[in-house]
Amino acid sequence: LFIALEGIDGSGKSTQTKLLTEQLSNQGHKVYSTFEPTNNPIGKMIRDILKGHTKADYRIIAGLFVADRLDHLLNEEYGIVKKLEEGYTVIMDRYYFSSYAYQGAHMDIDWVIQANAMSASVLRPDVNIFIDVAPETSMQRLHANRDNIELFETLDNLKLVRSKYMEAFEKLKNEEKIFSVDGNRTPDLIAGDIWQKVASMFTL
Ligand code: C5P
Repeated sequence: LFIALEGIDGSGKSTQTKLLTEQLSNQGHKVYSTFEPTNNPIGKMIRDILKGHTKADYRIIAGLFVADRLDHLLNEEYGIVKKLEEGYTVIMDRYYFSSYAYQGAHMDIDWVIQANAMSASVLRPDVNIFIDVAPETSMQRLHANRDNIELFETLDNLKLVRSKYMEAFEKLKNEEKIFSVDGNRTPDLIAGDIWQKVASMFTL
């Protein structure tokens, strides 16, 4: 199984990735959990740009995400395609829907979708799990949990990103499996819903 977790900043994706990984491991599955932007060479370039160390406009960032994603899929050493062939269940903290939402917030979303068609044809998630949290709730969590809020983490931006996720889900509802969970609850309740969904997919 290939599972992508999606959500705006502060939606609890990292926590849920960890909980789902533990749950699957406890059930005896081989699990490989990973994330975007990666820690591979192209992912590092992206992080440098997001931190403001290197300048690049949104078209370039969108292109780098496409390249980082393809490398993450196809690389002969650490590629996900190989991990799946080896029998791992792969959990991704963000995949192309993050690009539709974040890069699509600054440029034509259809262009971003087109530019990711190659990744979609190599590997489409068995399910995209969207942890849907109110931007106001996420903002409160970000303020409570971190000392310095990144510049882009404003309420308006979180609202914009959430609306782009919704736009992309609507556009792609016929070709993508999307499972939305109410993220405005405690981590264990959210994890319960996610586990029910994932467990049902193993028995299909
Ligand atoms: O997943 P995480 O919350 O660590 O992502 C960090 C940041 O990376 C996000 O807040 C977002 O600004 C940025 N990002 C992005 N485009 C993506 C994925 C992440 O701009 N496709």
